[in-house]
Amino acid sequence: MSADLIDGKQVAAAVRAEVAARVAALAFTPGLTVVLVGDDPASAIYVRNKDRAAAAAGIAARTLRLPADTTEAALLAIVAGLNADPTVDGILVQMPLPPQIRARAVIEAIDPAKDVDGLHPINSGRLHDGRPGLVPCTPVGVMRLLAHAGASIRGARALVLGRSALVGKPMAALLTNADATVTVAHSRTRDLAAECRRAEILVAAVGRAEMVRGDWVANDAIVIDVGINRLPDGRLVGDCATAECATHAAAITPVPGGVGPMTIACLLENTVTAALARRA
Ligand code: NAP
Repeated sequence: MSADLIDGKQVAAAVRAEVAARVAALAFTPGLTVVLVGDDPASAIYVRNKDRAAAAAGIAARTLRLPADTTEAALLAIVAGLNADPTVDGILVQMPLPPQIRARAVIEAIDPAKDVDGLHPINSGRLHDGRPGLVPCTPVGVMRLLAHAGASIRGARALVLGRSALVGKPMAALLTNADATVTVAHSRTRDLAAECRRAEILVAAVGRAEMVRGDWVANDAIVIDVGINRLPDGRLVGDCATAECATHAAAITPVPGGVGPMTIACLLENTVTAALARRA
């Protein structure tokens, strides 16, 4: 058996085209501001890609680049300014932040109506209540990929591997809201392989290169690999050993080219959602 590869680039291109069409029909230009503190090279690449994709969709995107020694107070003042700026619909503060800045303090300072990363407690509360709000981009992208792969989520046994605020927890909430029976596994889970083997839908968001092996995957499961890990030889791999898992799974996302492209596409979508909701 060999799994179908779920083409995240193709699905992301469709989402970006949808966003561009929605933006073109608006009487105003939605604005997205990304704040980048310090010079983490991976973050610089993400931010550049976000800027480019936003511009291509007709969103006015700009990046505020701040030095690595920026104080928390200075960053909070900038966020307050963006909250008050009517041309800014979406604010994204790129993580990780330097150690002198508390990420939570910054996230909680962002106006929830402009919180396109969906990390503010108001937005995560709404998600857990099953009410509309801004939802973290990566798990939204995963839901889109599951739909594209034809997964029937209602009633399915889903396993989310990882419980971060950015991916695992919102992922589990989205799957629960979509009527899956959800298990969340993490570093304290006993017999991870057995938990994985029960899953009809397996979403791995751990940050451990190729941890999920082929014999952890049930026959015909749908596997979504959120992980992005760089090996010492420079190769990028996911949290799943893709070739092995593909011998059991019905469908699997590649790394790169799976979840990654969806995250930016869903950020653009969140920006338009935020822009429309603020004007409603
Ligand atoms: P994170 O905050 O480090 O969380 C990792 C989670 O995995 C934690 O809940 C941790 O458990 C669990 N974990 C770690 N080691 C484990 C082990 N050996 N066995 C079982 N569980 C284990 O990471 P994250 O931000 O959620 O990101 C996860 C991965 O997704 C990373 O590779 C990241 O680069 C990638 N990512 C990709 C995208 C994208 O756009 N494709 C977006 C975001 C993240 P504990 O809670 O018990 O510590």
